Amino acid sequence: MRVALAVLLTIAAVVLLSGSSEDKRVSIYSTIANYSLPIVERPQVDYVGLLEVLEPLGTVSARTNKDQWRLRYNDAEAEFTANKRAARVRNTNFDLSANFILEGGRGLVPLADLSSLLSRILGGPVTFNPRSRRLFIGSVGIHFTAQISNTTPTTLIMNFSSPVNPAIATEPGKLHMTFIHDPVVASSSPKLTFSSTAITSASFLENNGEAEVVITSTVPVLASFSNNGRTITVGPPPPAAAVTAVPRVLPAAPGLALAPAPPASTAAPASGALHYFAVVDASHGGEERGAALTEQMAEKDVTLAFARLLRQELNNRGLRTLLVRDADTSLTLDQRAAMTNAAAPVIYVCVHAASQETGVRLYTGLSPSGGENVGPFRDWDAAQSPFLTLSDAVATSVAAALHAKQISVRTLTAPLRPLNNITSAAIAIEIAPPSGDVSQLNSAAYQQPIAAAVAAGVADARDKLQVTRE
Ligand SMILES: [Zn+2]
Repeated sequence: MRVALAVLLTIAAVVLLSGSSEDKRVSIYSTIANYSLPIVERPQVDYVGLLEVLEPLGTVSARTNKDQWRLRYNDAEAEFTANKRAARVRNTNFDLSANFILEGGRGLVPLADLSSLLSRILGGPVTFNPRSRRLFIGSVGIHFTAQISNTTPTTLIMNFSSPVNPAIATEPGKLHMTFIHDPVVASSSPKLTFSSTAITSASFLENNGEAEVVITSTVPVLASFSNNGRTITVGPPPPAAAVTAVPRVLPAAPGLALAPAPPASTAAPASGALHYFAVVDASHGGEERGAALTEQMAEKDVTLAFARLLRQELNNRGLRTLLVRDADTSLTLDQRAAMTNAAAPVIYVCVHAASQETGVRLYTGLSPSGGENVGPFRDWDAAQSPFLTLSDAVATSVAAALHAKQISVRTLTAPLRPLNNITSAAIAIEIAPPSGDVSQLNSAAYQQPIAAAVAAGVADARDKLQVTRE
C-alpha cells in the first residue's frame, strides 16, 4: 500500500471508466475462455493474429516456410501465403478479403474474415459483431432482465443468466457497468425506459470489445452484487442516518456471530444470501501485483496468504468471514466495496503489505473534507462517514490486541479507497516485515501471530460494541 492511493480520490470516476487503453481490440467469448486481443491496424484493414485467437481454445501450432504459413489446430489445418488472399482451410479454398500478412513468423488475417475462418477451423457456429468487435463461439451469450422494484426507495434489479463481473463507474445522473470478459448481450431492446422517476432508463451499448449498460437516474445510485454475481441491484446508497441502524447487524446475544435481521438498506443482498460478520479483502491481485516486496515476492500474494490466515482465526472465534477474493483475481476498488456492502458485514478488514519499516500499521478512513461541489455522487466517497466512530473503536481494539502480543503497531487515518466507500465499520491493516528481514514477510510463522491478534481485537470490539449498545 502506498499512501499515494489517496490520489485516487481526486480522479474522476469517468477516468476509471475509460479503462487501461484506447487501443483497438477484439473480445472473444467461448465456453472455454473469454479473452481480448489487440487489433493490428493497417491502412484500410484491421488484422488479428490467428495463432493468438486459437491458442486459448485448443492445441495449436504454426510453421513458417518461406512465404507459406501453415497452422494446425487440433485436427484442422490451414495454409496461408504472405501477401496473397488465396488460402486453404481443411483442404478447401478460402479467399481472404485482403492479403494475408506474415510478420516475423506471426500470421495476421483480416478481422473481417475471422468469423468465417473460425467457423471452418472449429467446425461450429461463430457470431461476430464487427462494429463492437465482439465474437461469440457457440451459444455463450449472457442474457439479462432489468426490472424496477416496488419497494421504497426504488431499485433496479438486474438478473443475469450467468455470473458477471463488470467494472462500475458513476458520474452525476449515470451509472456505467462495463463488461469486458462477460459475453453479455442486449435484452429485447437496447434501451429500456422505466416509469420510475428515480431510475429512468437502462441502455445497452457495445464498442471496442466491450459491452456497457448505462443506467440513468435522477438520484445518486450505487450498484451492489448478490446471488453469486448473477444479480446487480442499483439503488440509492444507505442514508447518512444509517449509523442508527448499526446495532441491527450486531449479534443479539453474546456468542452469536450471525446477524439475523435483514439489512434495511436497498443495497442489501438478495434474500437467502449468507450473512457474514467480517469481510476480509486481500488487496491487489491478478495483473495488479501491488508492491514488489522483493524480486520474487509480490504484495498480492502476501495479502492473500494473510487474508486466509485471518479468516481462519476469525472463524475460530465464531465470526463468520467472507474473503473478497480467495484466488489470484483482479478486482477494482469499486467492485470490492460493492461486494462488501452487498454482504453487509459488521466489520470490513482490508489487507496490504509493505517492505518498509516493521510491524503493523492500522488505518481508518477519513471524512472527505470540503468538496461540496462534487455533485450528487459525493455519497459514494462519504459512505464510510457515519461509521467512522465504529471503525475507530475497532482499530483501537485491534491495536490493543497487537500491543498485548508485543507486535509493534501504529494507528493512522487516511482517505484510503475503498475504506471510504464501505458502509460498515472498516479498517485497513498493512503488515511490514520483522525488523530487517523482508524474506520473512510471507512466512506463516510470522503472519500467524499477527492474524491471531487482529482476530482477537475484532472479537473484543464486538463485545465492546455490544456493551455500548445497552
Ligand atoms: Zn497495497
